[in-house]
Amino acid sequence: METQQFDTLIIGFGKGGKTLAAFLANKGMNVAVVEQSKEMYGGTCINVACIPTKSLVLSAEHAASHHPSTFEEKQAFYRHAIEEKQRLVTSLRQKNYDSLHTNPNVTVIDGLARFVSPHEVHVVLSGTRDVIQIRAEHIVISTGTKPFLPPIPGLKQSQRIYTSTTLMEQKRLPHHLLVIGGGYVGLEFASIYRAFGSEVTVFEQQGIFLPRQDRDVAAVVQQTMQAQGVQFHLHASVQHIHDEAAHTSVEFTDEQGQIHTLQGDAVLVAVGRAAVAAELALEQAHVETTEHGFVKVDEYLRTTTPNIWAVGDINGGPQFTYISLDDYRIVRDQFYGEGKRSTQSRQHVPSSIFITPTLSHVGLTEEEALQHGYEVNIAKLPAAANTRAQMLRETAGLLKAVVDARTHQILGCTLYCAESNEVINTVAMAMRAHMDHQTLRDTIFTHPSVSEVLNDLFTLIP
Ligand SMILES: Cc1cc2nc3c(=O)[nH]c(=O)nc-3n(C[C@H](O)[C@H](O)[C@H](O)COP(=O)(O)OP(=O)(O)OC[C@H]3O[C@@H](n4cnc5c(N)ncnc54)[C@H](O)[C@@H]3O)c2cc1C
Repeated sequence: METQQFDTLIIGFGKGGKTLAAFLANKGMNVAVVEQSKEMYGGTCINVACIPTKSLVLSAEHAASHHPSTFEEKQAFYRHAIEEKQRLVTSLRQKNYDSLHTNPNVTVIDGLARFVSPHEVHVVLSGTRDVIQIRAEHIVISTGTKPFLPPIPGLKQSQRIYTSTTLMEQKRLPHHLLVIGGGYVGLEFASIYRAFGSEVTVFEQQGIFLPRQDRDVAAVVQQTMQAQGVQFHLHASVQHIHDEAAHTSVEFTDEQGQIHTLQGDAVLVAVGRAAVAAELALEQAHVETTEHGFVKVDEYLRTTTPNIWAVGDINGGPQFTYISLDDYRIVRDQFYGEGKRSTQSRQHVPSSIFITPTLSHVGLTEEEALQHGYEVNIAKLPAAANTRAQMLRETAGLLKAVVDARTHQILGCTLYCAESNEVINTVAMAMRAHMDHQTLRDTIFTHPSVSEVLNDLFTLIP
């Protein structure tokens, strides 16, 4: 068997892995990147997650603004959006491939990697049965996650079950999309397909909508989505899925255990993502996993084997592309730095759910701040108070700030308004810089902008 020798081997072409590969190669290391699918150069984000979904969010908002009246017109907007998304993804995938492939110190290998020892991996080359052996000093696992399919009777047999990946490949707009799971993926898809004109129903097993948000914020989000036409069933436990000639029936129980049935022509399963680790034969490298199958790491992302790290979703941390990128910084710092950066260095990590308007959050909610024993001052403002939001015709929404009443430090902020995915970064920066709320209240922002709403929001803090 052919053996190839590298300084560093990276398994998986995701955000953290590819960025680390380019960095180490530019430092003169000889790096291999193994990727199991030519359709996945650039990883999950570019091919099947952040980029395609956000392209569809924008297209769906555009479609809705044209008020198409017939289903054929809605279908035409949708098909065009899917094609446009595909063009964007294809070009970014190529760009990603080229960026590593053209680096003289990087070798991209198409194949499925499997450990045979802590320094050796076998790769079954794509499209062949050929196996090569790779030996590397350092190995970084970056194999990501995939949609988790729960063992609901009938789910596997149904022809109308989709994951976030496969639904976006369909060029036919569903008449009625049934979404199992009210997490961020489920809500984003509900919002997208509703804006394109599908009927949308979301089933959520928990009795609480958006459990990590304050109840006042969650209520406004739910009311807004309902006003847009999304239907919610909380406490809804899906029991059975059954295909019939023209539709699929989803049977679910409510809080009282009563059985109900709803029919749709597409069912999206969005109940979380599972680690992609089974085929790695991690035990051959003495790399341990958690009870949920993710690779066990310490705060420096070192696995239980000294020469092996794990970056991105596979290490069980928060599942965001920018966390995978920050994982890269942590490992980079050990190769060429002081080695001090760790997951503990992360402060005030913001997040966004790309419904319409976007829901963004950083820091503590009011409820969490009170649980931590803070005395808090609260400011709340309707999104319609912002002129830019009015110009964008996104007047639904609510802004909320939580401030330490003693120190005036910002403890947390939730922005449910247009462009909040941009504005939340300003609040996160202010929190990291330990600015008090008066600084955001009095700082100069451009006009008209959504950012200037921070002046108004923090003015409301006593
Ligand atoms: C629908 C959806 C929307 C999302 N939207 C956002 C968003 O807006 N913003 C955001 O920050 N995050 C978003 N995320 C999360 C984000 O996509 C992930 O956190 C991120 O892509 C994880 O990257 P990663 O570095 O872990 O690796 P990945 O990008 O998952 O890459 C792993 C790669 O490893 C390859 N691989 C796996 N096993 C092997 C093997 N044995 N051998 C060789 N190759 C292998 C895979 O083919 C894959 O290409 C979204 C996720 C989903 C599902």
